[in-house]
Amino acid sequence: MKSKVAVVTGAASGIGFAIATEFAQAGAHVVLADIDPTAGERARAELEKSGAHCTFVPTNVSQAADVRRLVDHAVDAFGRLDILVNNAGLQYIAPVVDFPEDRWDYLISVMLTGAFLCSKYALPRMIQNKWGRIINIASLHGKVASPFKSAYISAKHGLLGLTKVVALEVAEHNITANAICPAYVRTPLVEKQIDEQARRHNLSASDVVAKIMLEPAAIRRLLEPNEVAALALYLCSDAAAGITGAALDIDLGWTAR
Ligand code: NAD
Repeated sequence: MKSKVAVVTGAASGIGFAIATEFAQAGAHVVLADIDPTAGERARAELEKSGAHCTFVPTNVSQAADVRRLVDHAVDAFGRLDILVNNAGLQYIAPVVDFPEDRWDYLISVMLTGAFLCSKYALPRMIQNKWGRIINIASLHGKVASPFKSAYISAKHGLLGLTKVVALEVAEHNITANAICPAYVRTPLVEKQIDEQARRHNLSASDVVAKIMLEPAAIRRLLEPNEVAALALYLCSDAAAGITGAALDIDLGWTAR
């Protein structure tokens, strides 16, 4: 990773911050992108404390103008762009019949259109260098469904399709594109869901995790963000050069049934 330049979206929190940290520790220059400017600056300052070369660009990945600015900024700051991690995401929970149409549009625009836009504008830089890695943080919910998460699950299923198309289009340029499909990871996104379910079912937080959220899993614990980050780092290595178009599970055995 020495001197490689990586853009990580949704890098101010959770999995994105863990990936940015892992990449920086491995010697990459990291461009953090996030819609939340305060959290993004905080994340950048924290990484810099440990000697990382990084920068933060306030970005709404659903907006093409923001994404173009992000890619330009990465190249201005560090001279190239080698790795893109499409990680920005959010959840909204409601049955289809009650699902607000603006929430549907927004979730799809962040987690599917956002990944498309970032890939579209980052790829020419990778093609120029004849090397690149695109890593899409999908989900276990890119492969299986749960009720009440229609927009999230549709976006993540779509993201696996986008991953395969990009993999086919750019393989000749020594660029791979892969998706990571985690089960529940201990991040603010999931902690919010645990609190909501605990209130709804009158259960403790640990019972919500073991009895409701992870009921279909073989290993009944939350993943830690650094477990996902370690897989992302591996996908950037030369050892992973033959893996492309894949959707790699890190799902606690959820889909083994
Ligand atoms: P998180 O809420 O901790 O972090 C998500 C980050 O994305 C936040 O910093 C947020 O500000 C940013 N973001 C949201 N909308 C954005 C936008 N339009 N443009 C730029 N940034 C935006 O969540 P997390 O759990 O770390 O999730 C990261 C990714 O991992 C998401 O794509 C999520 O779907 C996926 N994922 C999470 C889990 C889990 O259990 N936590 C499991 C599987 C997949």
